This record gives sequence, C-alpha cells and structure tokens, in this order.
Amino acid sequence: MLANSHDIAVLAGDGIGPEVMEATLELLRAVEQKHGISLAFTATRAGAFCYKETGTDLSDEAFERAARADAILLGAMGWPGIRRADGTEIAPQITLRQRLDLYAGVRPIRAIPGTPAVLAHPRAKEIDFVILRESTEGLFFSKDQGIVSADWAEETLRLTRRTTERLARTAFRLAAHRAAQRGRPGRVTLVDKANVFRAFAFMREVFAPIAAEHPDIAYDQHYVDAMALDLVRRPWAFDVLPMENMFGDILSDLGAGLIGGMGFAPSADLGDTHGLFQPSHGTAPDIAGQGVANPTACMLSAAMMLEWLAMKGGGQRLLDAATDIREAVDHAFAEGLRTPDIGGGAGTVAATRAVISALRRRPG
Ligand code: ATP
Repeated sequence: MLANSHDIAVLAGDGIGPEVMEATLELLRAVEQKHGISLAFTATRAGAFCYKETGTDLSDEAFERAARADAILLGAMGWPGIRRADGTEIAPQITLRQRLDLYAGVRPIRAIPGTPAVLAHPRAKEIDFVILRESTEGLFFSKDQGIVSADWAEETLRLTRRTTERLARTAFRLAAHRAAQRGRPGRVTLVDKANVFRAFAFMREVFAPIAAEHPDIAYDQHYVDAMALDLVRRPWAFDVLPMENMFGDILSDLGAGLIGGMGFAPSADLGDTHGLFQPSHGTAPDIAGQGVANPTACMLSAAMMLEWLAMKGGGQRLLDAATDIREAVDHAFAEGLRTPDIGGGAGTVAATRAVISALRRRPG
C-alpha cells in the first residue's frame, strides 16, 4: 500500500448492496485517477447470504478487517427469507455500529437540482438538512432483549450522558462546518418528546451547556410529532437535527421521501475513531437483481467518506474529490439523468456512466 493510500474495507452485502457498490467503486476509480488519490479496497464478506452459507453474518476476521481499515464502505445487508433461529433479522451493520461505537448517524437530506420535486412548494428545491441519529442506544438499547410475556411486552429506552454529550458536540461541529461551507449561519434543532418523557428532558439538560459553548450557532428544540409535520410543511427551514435512535430511524425515511426516495439518501455512521459509510436504504428485495437500483445514495456516501478522511488529516485532494462527486451527481441529474425510482429509464449501469461522464467533463 502507498504511504498516502487509504485502506477501505468494502462490505457490499446483500440484494442491491453489491449492485450499488459496484457502481460506486467504478466511480471511485475514476475519482482516484482524476484527483491523484489512492484508495486500497478490500472486499469483505458479510450479511444474510453469508450467514446462510457459512453460519455467521460477520466473522471475527471480517470484523477485524473492518475495524482495522481507515474507513468502511457498506452496501446494504439483510434478506427477508433469511432469519436467525429466533426469527430476528440478519443485520451485521447494527453489530458494527454497536461494536465500533458508531454513535452518530449522519443522514444528509438534500434535494438534487434537476430531480422532480416531491413537494409542490417552490422552496422544495432548497431542502438541505441533516438528520443526526444517535445510533447505539435510545429505544434500540434493548434490541433482541426486550421482554415478552403472554400479557405484556417491554423494551427499554436508554440515553447515557456520555453518548448524548458526544452527539451534541457532533451536532454543533456539523452545523459549524455546514455554515462555513454554505456561507450562512448554522442552526441545531434537537428533536425530542420532552413534554412526555423524562429521558428527553435529560437530553435537553445535556445539550444546553454544549449549545451555550456555540453562541454563533442558533439552537432550539422541536417535539418529534411536530417535526414530522414540519418536515413535510417547511423542510427547507431546518439545518442539523439531532435525535434519539428510533426517531432518527423513522424521520430519515421521511426525509428520503422528500427528495425522491431511498436511492438519494446517503449516510455515515461515525464514532470517535471509526467511520462507516452506507446508503440509507436497505437491500430492496423488490428490485434486487433487475439492474434498476439507483446508485446515487451509495455514491454520495462515498463522497462523505472522502470528506471524513480529509478531515481526519487525509488532505485537500480528498476534500476536492468529495466535492467533485457531489457536483458530478448534481450535474448528471441537471443534464437529464432520470433513474427508475423517479420515473426514468436509466438503470444502475446507465446512471453510473452518466455520473462518471459528468465527473470527467468537470474541471479538475
Ligand atoms: P430495511 O428494513 O433494510 O431498511 P426496507 O425494505 O424497509 O429495508 P429498503 O430496502 O430501503 O427498505 O426499500 C424501501 C423502498 O425503497 C423499496 O421499494 C425499494 O425498492 C426502494 N429503494 C431502496 N433503495 C433503492 C435504490 N437504491 N434505488 C431505487 N429504489 C430503492
């Protein structure tokens, strides 16, 4: 490996995971050439079909491989017909989040210029906010360990001070970064249900002193039910939205719906040392194997990966490469690219070609 090469563990996974990953790796190879960066990809097997064939969805070796890499790029994992003996889904991506302490799920929701607007409002094209989903605790704390008796069932929601503080710090850092990039003030809106649950009053209490350290960033709170309404009524009004795990799970799908569907929604799962990047979508069994999956979300996740590597000291070229991917995607759609999920005819291969062609034509 070259001294300045970045070691990327690639976990393509199941369903449309390998399809969007192949497209993304092709784009990344073009990006490497254009920007003079070096990425060393190591394909690592994990997921539902891996479980079916080998009895494990994420071997120790695969976990170590992912943990050692500079970054992890993941397609999608899980399959409806493949379950554990207790009936639960195969989801090694959740295991990775837990074991690598990837507490911050960063899910940008940005309307891509040129794509048909989902909302009729003229400001719909301004949609550009980020859902920051806490990804290791909240209502997922008792995942697989909820108690079910004949007459009642119970799950536990847990928020720790340590993770909530780190989430708050990530929110304000992200808002400052976005404000500098966009040349406008930043804003953090904590999404909770503090009017009903004491756990969310605790969350507000933890956020308050950290917000006070950032007088340049506006800070407010919004109840989750009101936020569901406002994300449909005026989504352009928001910037960075930190929230509990389950709320983030739900509102990030709503967010994806605002910009054309899951095929447009990238994500990053970040911890203090590790970063995992994957499209927000699942394995989409309804369209897997048909060559129609939209690779945009995976490509934009790869751009987030390059940006994160740049901020970890990887250098300006990675940052330029990340911007180039985003702008090439925008350019391709502005030029008329239409994937099947937004009513067009460009399948995965055609969409990949259009984005790579836009990338090659853009100034270096
Ligand atoms: P999971 O529980 O793993 O999130 P899911 O079935 O609930 O899985 P997805 O797999 O994300 O959710 O699929 C939701 C819908 O979005 C499906 O109709 C699917 O076809 C569509 N979809 C998801 N990803 C894409 C994509 N990249 N391109 C086009 N359509 C997609």
